[in-house]
Amino acid sequence: MRATIMRGAGDVRIEKVPDPTIIESTNALIRVTRACVCGSDLWPYRSMQPSERGQPMGHEAIGVVEAVGADVRTVKRGDIVVMPFASSDGTCNFCHEGLPTACIHLSFFGNQGNEGAQAEAIRIPYADGTLFPIPVGKDDALMPSLLTLADVLGTGHHAAVVAKVGPGKDVAVVGDGAVGLCGVIAAKRLGAERIFLLGRHPDRIALAREFGATDIVSERGPEAIERMRQLTGGHGVHAVLECVGLTQAMKTAVEITRAGGAIGRVGVPQDAAMPGSQTAFYHNVTVGGGPAPVRAYIRELLPDILEGRIQPGRVFDRSVDLDGVPGGYRDMNDRKALKVMVRP
Ligand SMILES: [Zn+2]
Repeated sequence: MRATIMRGAGDVRIEKVPDPTIIESTNALIRVTRACVCGSDLWPYRSMQPSERGQPMGHEAIGVVEAVGADVRTVKRGDIVVMPFASSDGTCNFCHEGLPTACIHLSFFGNQGNEGAQAEAIRIPYADGTLFPIPVGKDDALMPSLLTLADVLGTGHHAAVVAKVGPGKDVAVVGDGAVGLCGVIAAKRLGAERIFLLGRHPDRIALAREFGATDIVSERGPEAIERMRQLTGGHGVHAVLECVGLTQAMKTAVEITRAGGAIGRVGVPQDAAMPGSQTAFYHNVTVGGGPAPVRAYIRELLPDILEGRIQPGRVFDRSVDLDGVPGGYRDMNDRKALKVMVRP
């Protein structure tokens, strides 16, 4: 089959690789019908050392189940399924507690021997715990929005949950990428009153406003902090969704959180130590977050998509086939595309 392999910074290729096969009795194989390029795929795209072996890419998908192992019970051949970015067994204590990204059998797609989803097909470990069947046809008009259940919508929602967003709260979202925009959707869905978006790209700002952002702050660094203070009576907001991961973004997140407030961080941190640690301490700010347990959130978020209350699929502004994937990386990296959908 054909699959996306990264061989170094800026070097994404579509290559012939062996077809995936069932290895364990708990595996399933899915034919990928939709996948995407993720903002986190851009980190290796910018920095990966040249690699002979290469890195299979892609960790968000929807597909059709093609085969299942003897011990798979909850999905069957022909099912349309969401594939979250991580695989989990669905049976351990952490899975039962709603944190499948701490599963004792956790593994990430594109890593740890797993294939990537920017490919024609993929093997799924622990299919029962990982895959989520959805009641639609494979070319349903809602497909773009359903695809966000594999990562960006669940990740934005996680940031909002960890930041304790609720009715009447003022919320700020740091970052105008696909996760930040989904964070706006999540904040509104959970009843936030004012939603500030910190971002500066006109098309993304326009989308954020449609998703429910009430205020836009396009300054950066100290100016952004100052502007947020002016807009919030000097004290900042109750809840901040940090959706970037860079030093300045986290510093800003801490400085604009009201004393006693909370930050949900889902941007992959680029620092070993936490920026803003002292301010967070003296302001009694709760800081949490991590890899979002998106599998656990699908049950709650799916009805809002199926019934048309939210349209997170609008974050996709480009669709490519496998041959278009290298160009899709380039355009996302150059910020010419917000998020790229792949139709293998
Ligand atoms: Zn588990």
